[in-house]
Amino acid sequence: MALTPMMQQYLEIKKQAPDAILFFRLGDFYEMFFEDAIVGSRELEITLTGRDGGETERIPMCGVPYHAAENYISKLIDKGYKVAICEQVEDPKASKGIVRREIIRVVTPGTVIEGSLLPEKDNNYLVAVSEISPNHYGMAVSDLSTGLFQVAEMVGPGALDSLLDEIARLSPREFLSPATFPQQEKVADFLRLLPTTVLTVLSDDYFAFASAAQTLKEHFAATDISGCLANTALCTSAGCLLRYLLETQKRQLTHITEITTYSPQGFMILDSIARRNLEITKSLREGDKKGSLLWVLDHTKTAMGGRLLKSWLEQPLIDAAKIEERLDAVEELVNSLMLRQEMGEALKHVYDLERLTARAAYGTANGRDLLALLNSLNKLPGLYGLLRQTQSSMLKRIYGEFDTLEDLQALLTSALADNPPVSLRDGGLIREGFHPEIDQLRTAARDGKAWLAGLEAREKERTGIKSLKVGFNKVFGYYIEVTRANLNSVPDYYQRRQTLANAERFITPELKEYESLILGAEDRLVELEYNLFVEIRNKVAGEVSRIRRTADLVAQVDALLSLAEVAYRQGYSRPEICQDGIIQIKEGRHPVVELTLGAGGFVPNDTYLDNGSERLGLITGPNMGGKSTYQRQVALLVLMAQVGSFVPATAAKIGIVDRIFARVGASDDLTSGQSTFMVEMFETKQILDHATPRSLVIIDELGRGTSNLEGMAIAQAVIEFLHNKLGCRTLFSTHYHELAELEGLLPGLTNYATAVKEQGNEVAFLRKVVRAKASKSYGVHCAKLAGLPGEIIQRASQLVAQLEHHQQATREVVAGKGQVAAGVEEQLTIFNETKDELKEEILALDLANLTPLESLIYLD
Ligand code: ADP
Repeated sequence: MALTPMMQQYLEIKKQAPDAILFFRLGDFYEMFFEDAIVGSRELEITLTGRDGGETERIPMCGVPYHAAENYISKLIDKGYKVAICEQVEDPKASKGIVRREIIRVVTPGTVIEGSLLPEKDNNYLVAVSEISPNHYGMAVSDLSTGLFQVAEMVGPGALDSLLDEIARLSPREFLSPATFPQQEKVADFLRLLPTTVLTVLSDDYFAFASAAQTLKEHFAATDISGCLANTALCTSAGCLLRYLLETQKRQLTHITEITTYSPQGFMILDSIARRNLEITKSLREGDKKGSLLWVLDHTKTAMGGRLLKSWLEQPLIDAAKIEERLDAVEELVNSLMLRQEMGEALKHVYDLERLTARAAYGTANGRDLLALLNSLNKLPGLYGLLRQTQSSMLKRIYGEFDTLEDLQALLTSALADNPPVSLRDGGLIREGFHPEIDQLRTAARDGKAWLAGLEAREKERTGIKSLKVGFNKVFGYYIEVTRANLNSVPDYYQRRQTLANAERFITPELKEYESLILGAEDRLVELEYNLFVEIRNKVAGEVSRIRRTADLVAQVDALLSLAEVAYRQGYSRPEICQDGIIQIKEGRHPVVELTLGAGGFVPNDTYLDNGSERLGLITGPNMGGKSTYQRQVALLVLMAQVGSFVPATAAKIGIVDRIFARVGASDDLTSGQSTFMVEMFETKQILDHATPRSLVIIDELGRGTSNLEGMAIAQAVIEFLHNKLGCRTLFSTHYHELAELEGLLPGLTNYATAVKEQGNEVAFLRKVVRAKASKSYGVHCAKLAGLPGEIIQRASQLVAQLEHHQQATREVVAGKGQVAAGVEEQLTIFNETKDELKEEILALDLANLTPLESLIYLD
């Protein structure tokens, strides 16, 4: 049996969007068929039905009402699907046979523009990568909802790492790639760690130079993009991205007005491990903003300011002059209560200019959107006036570039009604006085209505029928209703239109005349208002470049103000930026922990690191002593300083860092199926491969995933390598207290410990980092704090005493073997009875003089 013509049409259209769920418009519904219906009904929890399509078996079908479609689309996008929207593109009444239908847009996770589907302070990134050679890549990124479009080139031996770091920073919703790229093992592993990124593989012709260049030239006809066109990596990635956008959106994307080229080398490098562990924009535990650095620093008032601040934190600077420029601006705002208050007040009423303009350019902005735009524009002159009073170079530059868009503001003020409705088809969009015909039509409609309002009273009077009523319905229009009892009083000129159970409805020639005046005026009004509105919206769209530039400047002011606000409230100080490698912090605090503990709860700590005799701080101390917090605090303060923020400390000198590494704890990486130990080793290798003397390395425990002996050996070998070969500034915390014996052997290593106060049986962690080595672990004390049964605590204390006694005895035997050997010895005593041979063998080694490699080979 043959399929019905409509199902044939469906299958034809479906061929154009094989990887998307097709929403096929049928009257007031979007229907899904076949496999799409099965997936759709499951994911959207809607009923799966069937439809006769001409074949013996019914075709699976499910559908959603068109007016609620946005909601359903958003659910599918969230789950990583793409949705192709297929509309009826001709009037069903006018068409013979089957209505023509076309896909008008494919919504994909990386091309969502609807504000309601996007978190306002987050970008929705779509990234495309082109591979020129194994060490040469181009990367383009867009946020269609704001018009952002950037490209970068990565070339040289570390190109792939640098590319993956960039992708990790952006954490895109969708990732466009040639087929071969994700087949590389390193890339595949990396993508597994980005579970929310949807991978879209595109055929090679998307990445071909000539067609990419052509696509770019056509779109950016009015913009100079010669730099991008002259570079194969930039051109192919940007061309591919733009082509995908044009093909899915099926319209001109006028709000993408320029391509910005940037270089990842201009920023501090943060790999995905450091980003995660430092909890810059997301906390480790909750996975959302709460508890992250961004959570502390984000007091932005506008959506674009929020997005910009987030991107600042994700890309700390390395250029001293740029950092100082931001710091100067923040300082100026910290010092002026007036500027902070008044700028804050103005910014509060500025809406998301970027997304509003994108909607104007898309032709989806309604009256309320343009009203929000107008309300925002109204605030710009005030902000401009405040900027005029500033002194710092960055704020002055913003002032110099600021465009208050007064022409647009004047247009919208004169054109837009006070309270436009959501719909564009109900009138009420345009203000009185903007257009003479609109005013005339409104007067006509109003006069007609006034006449109607008086009609009931006049007819009652004239006919003497007290219960006479004037009403309106869609079929008969306006009518006069008279109850049955009064029909004998109806005058001759009343013409009967409708008979009801208890009443009759009439019209009069005069009533019809007014009716057509009112209805005609209203119809014409709706149409005229709609056309004028679209004209105004197009004018707004025509100014999209100017609005986007102003939006960017507003975002900068907002982000600076946010940093100033936090600095003021939390008593931060301005860091001194230097190039000499010194990191010196006086009374530093962890910005997040400080906030969660509340006033006075946090114990401040000092820090000193340099590239010479204090390049490696080794921190020992009990669990819960404050080691992790301290290390992250130092990394976060450095990061904040390089973002241009003040820091939580009484004073700080920050020698610029090219990269922060942060290996923290032993997080089980369940998704990639690697063992804790392998993850540790992999993360450590990353550090050893890439750290430079300008890097800051934070290692919080290493070697936990294996035996004590091996763990400590690896930790020591890594410390020696960092100290001797890399010379980077390092804070290394460990529960192997024996490693503290390295002080003196390694000239750049300094011991630190978290201080503990013992009083009788009670132990207090002071959270103070002091120059010392820890003597005890207090593990049993922690176990007690955690509420382990008393019986276990007692037994454990007993065992500790026994083992300590044992150790003491052994230490006496091996005295003179060298301090580090003594350390290893302590670990071994636990296995005294069973591993005697091993003990003998290890004791025979000259551990203090073994190189890291030799000890690893030996352990193997
Ligand atoms: P460790 O790494 O030594 O096990 P943590 O850094 O995890 O210890 O800190 C343990 C607890 O102590 C955390 O709950 C933290 O909030 C608190 N803490 C850490 N440092 C400080 C400090 N300087 N002042 C106050 N509380 C702190």
